Amino acid sequence: MNFPDLKEARKRTSNKVNILYDRYNIPERIMNIGYGKSYSILTYGCQMNVHDSENISGIMEELGYSRGENYETSDIIILNTCAIRENAHNKVIGILGRIKHLKEKNKQLITILCGCMAQEETIVNLIYKKYPWIDVVIGTHNIYELPLVLEKVIRDKKQEISVYSAEGDVIENLPVKRDSKYKAWVNIQYGCDKFCSYCIVPYTRGKQRSRLPKDIIKEVEVLKNDGYKEVTLLGQNVTAYGKDLNSNYTMANLLEDVSKTGIERIRFVTSHPWDFSDDMIEIIAKYDNIMPYIHLPIQSGSDNILKKMNRRYTIDEYKSLFYKLKKKIPGVSITTDIIVGFPNETADDFKKTLEIYNELKYDLAYTFIYSPRNGTPAALIKDEISLEEKEARLHTLNQIVNRYAREANQKYLYKTVPVLIEGPSEKNNKVMGYTDTMKLVNVEADLSYVGKIVPVLITEVKTWSMEGVIKVD
Ligand code: SF4
Repeated sequence: MNFPDLKEARKRTSNKVNILYDRYNIPERIMNIGYGKSYSILTYGCQMNVHDSENISGIMEELGYSRGENYETSDIIILNTCAIRENAHNKVIGILGRIKHLKEKNKQLITILCGCMAQEETIVNLIYKKYPWIDVVIGTHNIYELPLVLEKVIRDKKQEISVYSAEGDVIENLPVKRDSKYKAWVNIQYGCDKFCSYCIVPYTRGKQRSRLPKDIIKEVEVLKNDGYKEVTLLGQNVTAYGKDLNSNYTMANLLEDVSKTGIERIRFVTSHPWDFSDDMIEIIAKYDNIMPYIHLPIQSGSDNILKKMNRRYTIDEYKSLFYKLKKKIPGVSITTDIIVGFPNETADDFKKTLEIYNELKYDLAYTFIYSPRNGTPAALIKDEISLEEKEARLHTLNQIVNRYAREANQKYLYKTVPVLIEGPSEKNNKVMGYTDTMKLVNVEADLSYVGKIVPVLITEVKTWSMEGVIKVD
């Protein structure tokens, strides 16, 4: 048994990061341990988790398990959890009750909890004391050990907690079963050293560790040869890519090298404004296959709050970066994240958030009410602002977010834009896909277009999506 330890998780040393190519392997004796059995993964949270679930699927299928039709009838249920907000926590805690019920009916059912909640000291202690029917808790740093942990639980029929609060290594060569044949997530970096005062990620994901450029490029080349059209380079703070590699190789260099592979579309998330370099902007502007879409979290419009958040930039610095991006990258679409109701955010602080939003007119924003995370500095601040007030602020902000989202879409009306068609739309007889600028489009077309980038004439715009038809010359 290994439990997480918050104090350990907070530590940062100058120890070298190990890049381990042969750490993951499955012993012969358990190669087919899952033959004839099924697994389901319930994934919560960000794109990193979505991609981690693709790796977990890869591991499960190498063990012989096949994907179940739904979690309620599967032999193994894996909860890949998120710790970023209370909401994500509650969803997982909510489903635990349902799974307990399934477990009472089927004693052979195995339940695994992994992801960021598995790295939280309080959560794991709670699971140990109150949820003995969760068979495995495995952390973000050692998911490669899942086969051995699973073997142990099947053999011993005892709860296994296997979580390390380490700074972390880079584990290469994990298997992957991707959800799409056209769009792929590619990790370029793990962990984060920014320690924004509200954020639990530096504790749950460890220190910043960049993958080597050669491993990333090779992965993209293989994807391209397999027919993939789009890659999204993933990390908690991709703009800081390379800073831990002890070389001068930066995110700008990586973007240029990935661009030269010739893959048709390249995206990247998430960017921290503090590390966004002029070189990066030049490269994005220079190469057509780097998409003109930037997600650039601002979090607040008030310097006072940004300082308390430990965001390391002022509003003036952010604005100067924003306008540089708009000027140098024609047609760029910029989206953001905003937290309202950070502890003791005043009416004036919030007004500044509205003012900056009205000035910058983002294409879209993901807005949230601040959620205290145990163990972070912000969670210790005594907050005088009521939840009702925070909800009212969120509502006010969302109204202007919606207004500008619609206005941004309006610019596309009767224009022809490239769309990568991904699959059937939720609407009858249509397919859906995204523009280069990350706008969702429902297209009147059949499934033969799936996986292709096609010119689409936009015929109608809404707040969250657009409608279009394929343009034929
Ligand atoms: S940069 Fe992002 S992941 Fe890192 S601490 Fe700040 S909010 Fe969290």
